[in-house]
Amino acid sequence: MLHTNLGINEKNHLTLAGVDTVSLAETYGTPLMVMDEERIRRNLRLYKDAMRRFFGEGSRPLFASKAFSCKYIYRVVREEGVGIDLVSSGELYTAVEAGFDVKNAFLHGNNKTDDDIRYAIECGVGHFVVDNLTELDRIDEIAAARGLVQPILLRLTPGIDPHTHAAITTGKVDSKFGIAIETGQADAAVAYTLKKRNVRLDGFHCHIGSQIFDVKPFCDAAALMISYIASVKKAFGYEAKILNLGGGPGVRYIESQPELDYAAFIEKIASFIDRETARYNLKKPEILMEPGRSIVADSCLTLYTVGGVKEIPGFKNYVSIDGGMPDNPRYALYQSDYTVCLASRMADKPDFLCTVAGRCCESGDLIQENVPLPRPNRGDILAVLVTGAYNYSMASNYNRIPRPAVIALRNGEAFPVIRRESFADLTRNDL
Ligand SMILES: *Cc1c(COP(=O)(O)O)cnc(C)c1O
Repeated sequence: MLHTNLGINEKNHLTLAGVDTVSLAETYGTPLMVMDEERIRRNLRLYKDAMRRFFGEGSRPLFASKAFSCKYIYRVVREEGVGIDLVSSGELYTAVEAGFDVKNAFLHGNNKTDDDIRYAIECGVGHFVVDNLTELDRIDEIAAARGLVQPILLRLTPGIDPHTHAAITTGKVDSKFGIAIETGQADAAVAYTLKKRNVRLDGFHCHIGSQIFDVKPFCDAAALMISYIASVKKAFGYEAKILNLGGGPGVRYIESQPELDYAAFIEKIASFIDRETARYNLKKPEILMEPGRSIVADSCLTLYTVGGVKEIPGFKNYVSIDGGMPDNPRYALYQSDYTVCLASRMADKPDFLCTVAGRCCESGDLIQENVPLPRPNRGDILAVLVTGAYNYSMASNYNRIPRPAVIALRNGEAFPVIRRESFADLTRNDL
């Protein structure tokens, strides 16, 4: 199977972490997202151990919680002793509600409002990742009014193109995020920041993109950032303590994609950092990474019930499910790859090529095209694999469809972590 936590049992049903997914669908209803907690913990530990080992003392992962933000996840991440990256006051609120110590949080966002800045300072967020200088001015002023000094990183664009989907490329010079190195604006920003009294510059951040399988763009970005740290040291006498390399390592969604060895990935990046720090005679900074997708994606699958099956002779076949773009907009947004299977009939021959369609009034509401399945019947349970990242966190109520329930599995036991939305939830804010 695609990942080691997936299997097939004696009833020819799909299993996740050894649990029969069809019986979960019967118990909890569909659409249903099921998370394998051990997998999340394994992924967190893998990054934590490899980063400490290859990057050295103080180096650590931060879970990019925009991939999946809810109280349950923040509790699991806290238990594993891993920090987080946040991109909004809503994520910050959720983390605080979950009892997460936000000293171990880095707050991102290319447009932090004054309210966001005030709220984050009030909550004691450890670091702000500053996107632009007007924001820096406000952080400095608001911190001054509170009589404190706020630690920050500056987000820079190293000018690296990781050759992933354009919508998830973020480190190029013309990106909406961060401050460009190649235009000289980063130098000006460093000089400006070092003069501020109520922010403390702890280092630099870059994030080149997402779903990247090749280690080279990460090595290039690391080398470029180290050389930038050296040039800043020379020009301003300031040596960065932290280098945050962002997120982006790829995840296997379909058989033809590789399963990345994240530890080997980290070891390779570390060799570039060692080489470049030695070349410039720099002290090795603490290296941070912000994996999101590769922490949660393969922990989860989504179960749906098949409704209509439509054959258009000479054209194509449609299999309609009781969810779609409201719970998984990624195919509509990015034509993302997914593996789809008929969880209730895993041994049957997949001789029916079809398009899996959601229930929204949108022709673009598709989950995947050209999917080989056994010809499904109404009532069969269909599974979409590897849905832990950017599915629930991107979910909407389009067409007034309630968001699905999310359950987690731990030691063979299932328990709910996000309640299924009710119709009453849909009208809760209607006046
Ligand atoms: C989205 C994002 C991440 C996480 O990216 P993944 O591809 O999910 O690992 C990390 N850092 C920043 C700044 C991001 O915007």
